[in-house]
Amino acid sequence: MTAIQYAGLTDQGRLREENEDRWLADPQQGLYLVADGMGGMFGGALASQVVVEILPRLIRKRMRDLDQPDPSKVEHQVLAALSELSERLHNEAKSEFGSGAMGSTAVLALVGDRQALVAHMGDSRAYLLRDGRLRQLTTDHTVIQLLLDAGEITPDEVADHPARGQLTRFVGMPGEPLPEVQSIGLAAGDRLLLCSDGLSGMLSDEQILNVLEEESVPEAACRQLVAAANEAGGRDNVTVLLLSVASD
Ligand code: CA
Repeated sequence: MTAIQYAGLTDQGRLREENEDRWLADPQQGLYLVADGMGGMFGGALASQVVVEILPRLIRKRMRDLDQPDPSKVEHQVLAALSELSERLHNEAKSEFGSGAMGSTAVLALVGDRQALVAHMGDSRAYLLRDGRLRQLTTDHTVIQLLLDAGEITPDEVADHPARGQLTRFVGMPGEPLPEVQSIGLAAGDRLLLCSDGLSGMLSDEQILNVLEEESVPEAACRQLVAAANEAGGRDNVTVLLLSVASD
């Protein structure tokens, strides 16, 4: 497996009374995960906690059942694990609290030999920093993204738009779960950033890139990213999980 250095950090931010973000790193399994819970009175923190506790187990079990870990089969199993968890969370939340009561985003990287699988539901993001360029790997599952794609609004209108924060897909969504997955090759020096929207909503890609370029040590970069999000207002919980691919 590709050697990875990593660090993760979560912070309540400056306005929220609770931190409903969770992150998890399991280097043995090569699994790195950020979850951002929502659910107001019913406890988004519970939903994101369920994601970081249960999803690694579901993925581990499905990986064990694979005889040939070829990329398309791994992708299929990760999608199936996310769908299974989403249906379970939806059904349990519905019977406890009523429909649509709670859910969570999930963005994960499953690192294998010189490659990583990136999967997500919701607006938590994965970015790849390579050769001085920061590329957003995931497409937000949000109403805002749909409006942008349709040309109904411009990027300038996002900040004050009433649909801001509304997700079109999440773990626990009603109907058929629709997780997305992609595989990317990993090269020495690559850095993968998983984050909640408490980071990407407060900092531009350029600001994120600047911090990552200035700070090569993962722990320090995470601290700086969280500090920058809080300096920019800290309107939401902020979580960062940074993976650095070791040089050969
Ligand atoms: Ca959030």
